[in-house]
Amino acid sequence: MIESQPAVIPDGAGLVSDLGRRNGLESLSERPGQRPPGPLGPLSAGMVITCEHGGNRLPARYRHFFQGQQATLDSHRGFDPGALLLARDLAAAFAAPLVLSTVSRLLVDLNRSIGHPRLHSETLRKESAELRQEIVKRYYQPHRAHTEDLIRQAVAAHGRVLHVSAHSFTPELDGKRRNADIGLLYDPSRPGEAALCQRWKASLQSCATGRTDLTNLTIRRNYPYNGKDDGLTSWFRRRLAADVYVGIEVEINQKHAFRGGRHWPALRAAIVEALRQALVADDDVLEAQDLSRLRRS
Ligand SMILES: [Zn+2]
Repeated sequence: MIESQPAVIPDGAGLVSDLGRRNGLESLSERPGQRPPGPLGPLSAGMVITCEHGGNRLPARYRHFFQGQQATLDSHRGFDPGALLLARDLAAAFAAPLVLSTVSRLLVDLNRSIGHPRLHSETLRKESAELRQEIVKRYYQPHRAHTEDLIRQAVAAHGRVLHVSAHSFTPELDGKRRNADIGLLYDPSRPGEAALCQRWKASLQSCATGRTDLTNLTIRRNYPYNGKDDGLTSWFRRRLAADVYVGIEVEINQKHAFRGGRHWPALRAAIVEALRQALVADDDVLEAQDLSRLRRS
């Protein structure tokens, strides 16, 4: 593990920490000053939000590798449009720490494991291994190490953690239209993740019902990707047991971010509110389990 002191940015205005700049490393985080006591129980108490594909920034020293690729950089291949706004909404609503990256995934994909053939874009795969290692050290490792620190802190303080990783997906891929508005990705072999996604989906459907700005929402589980695929949540699942770590990727169809207007914040608000409702139900289950465990001991 490399040395990286995460920066705390109270108002979220500055994105790159001075400390990160001084070290030549970057890990961006935002943490609300205080966690309110709140009505929610165990799961929401230990919550960490991350955003791996939040922007399409290319640091100056690497820009020349991507000359003539502005269109790719601005497309879904460069970043996840809308994902950072959702991540910020979730972090604010639950007073949870947020670890985010605004460096383009063309440089390094923070949602891939080291050794994955698509950790770097084709452009950088042609360059030296030293260059790729430098990029991993500067942009990949600080994000992962910082997220791991927060997740382990949450587990130490609350006994379990809910990690929500915010993403968005392109409405059409290779000429095929994606037929969902929201995707919730999880590992079906983990009962806590399956139950929470089921509740989140049901709450979102009921939140959208009767709202003219949110009609005909299609919410699908493990679509357009499988939650078990390589990624940050899968990496944590290999390290933390199912009763300790609950990791979910929320994916929004980018057509909603592009459409903008009042509909876009309303959709994000519905996703947040639906998670709140799902957690209330989840916490009831967890508290009942804890209570019966206490009674037995
Ligand atoms: Zn993504």
